[in-house]
Amino acid sequence: MNVSKSCDKSQRTWPEEPYGLYLHLPFCLQKCPYCSFHSLVGSNSLIDRYTKALFKQIETMASHHWTRTKSPGSIFFGGGSPTIVSPQILGDLLSACLSAYQTNCNDVEISIEVNPATIDRAGLSTLRQAGFNRISIGAQSFHDKELQQLGRPHSAEDICRVIQEAKDAGFTNLSIDLMYGLPGQDEATWQETLHQALKQNPDHFSIYELTLEPGTPFSNLAEKGKLRLPHEDTVLQMMEFTLSLFEDKGYSQYEISNYAKKGYSCLHNINYWQNGSYIGLGSGAVSCLSGRRIRTVRDVEQFCLLLEQGQFPWAEEEILDHEARFRETVIMGLRMTKGVSLSRLQNSYDLDPLDYYGKVLQSLLNQNLVQIEEDRLRLSKKGLPLANFVMAELV
Ligand code: SF4
Repeated sequence: MNVSKSCDKSQRTWPEEPYGLYLHLPFCLQKCPYCSFHSLVGSNSLIDRYTKALFKQIETMASHHWTRTKSPGSIFFGGGSPTIVSPQILGDLLSACLSAYQTNCNDVEISIEVNPATIDRAGLSTLRQAGFNRISIGAQSFHDKELQQLGRPHSAEDICRVIQEAKDAGFTNLSIDLMYGLPGQDEATWQETLHQALKQNPDHFSIYELTLEPGTPFSNLAEKGKLRLPHEDTVLQMMEFTLSLFEDKGYSQYEISNYAKKGYSCLHNINYWQNGSYIGLGSGAVSCLSGRRIRTVRDVEQFCLLLEQGQFPWAEEEILDHEARFRETVIMGLRMTKGVSLSRLQNSYDLDPLDYYGKVLQSLLNQNLVQIEEDRLRLSKKGLPLANFVMAELV
């Protein structure tokens, strides 16, 4: 890709609102058999080189036309398992971001994903002192047998220990990730996991149904009939139970997979769902600024090499046209329970979904899969579990 062409002042575009800053740390202790994310196992020798390259990328992107005029509204360190990298280095990377992007850690949400097998009390304290103020714990289940089947390198006891140590370190914004629809899981074990998780009193939950990603060991086992997954009716009941239990306990569903106590919705992710601008740093990370989408090279060694040579590590660029951005904004916005604002769509794109989608949207309205209320188009209660179908209609 001709990067210098993309930096041409005549072509520059500007983020309209505060953007999200994402740092990708693509290293894991072991590969979970359901995971198709971009992550490396057994490559710890590369970590030092990779983080040096990241420091360079932080600097170069901060001096770019796009980022000079605005500061990020949120920062998110994700992976992989970011906490495989030493907490001191993670703190240094955050400090480099805060300084390069002229941001104060008290003003923005700064999240880090934590795999419970890769952090201890001292590490959590270091992260908190460095300025991280939100922690997202990849628990997935509170059943050791399920955790083993998922290939997770931690136990339920590890999760509880890390949560307590995070609270002791001063984290007051804590999220737990859980998965349902797991091999061998039934309603009773899922309910036990939820009750165990609620006992930890987190501020936020991300709840994902297991999906079989092509090429993963789980997908291969399923193809051979060797993966015993719960029946789809059971999975639906798990989802319904979750919603009703969380509502009862004071967690609102604000997105298809996310629930939060009042004031604890994840701002970084809301920016994605509102189709806002974001900068992704690290191998395979994607940036999107005002409809210009750029992906960084996925190969970690190539990523390091390009930055060592003083080059931009960008692999490809896509410029979304006006209507494509409008459709993305509608579809991403429908992920949130409050949906999308019609007047905002009108102001930003000069398009009305009712006119634009015509019969397709009318049919979804007639089937009560979506509804329009007080200027907002959103999924109905009936439409929420069928979100994929609705979105496919509106792509
Ligand atoms: S820890 Fe997360 S990123 Fe790493 S392999 Fe497991 S699911 Fe994938």
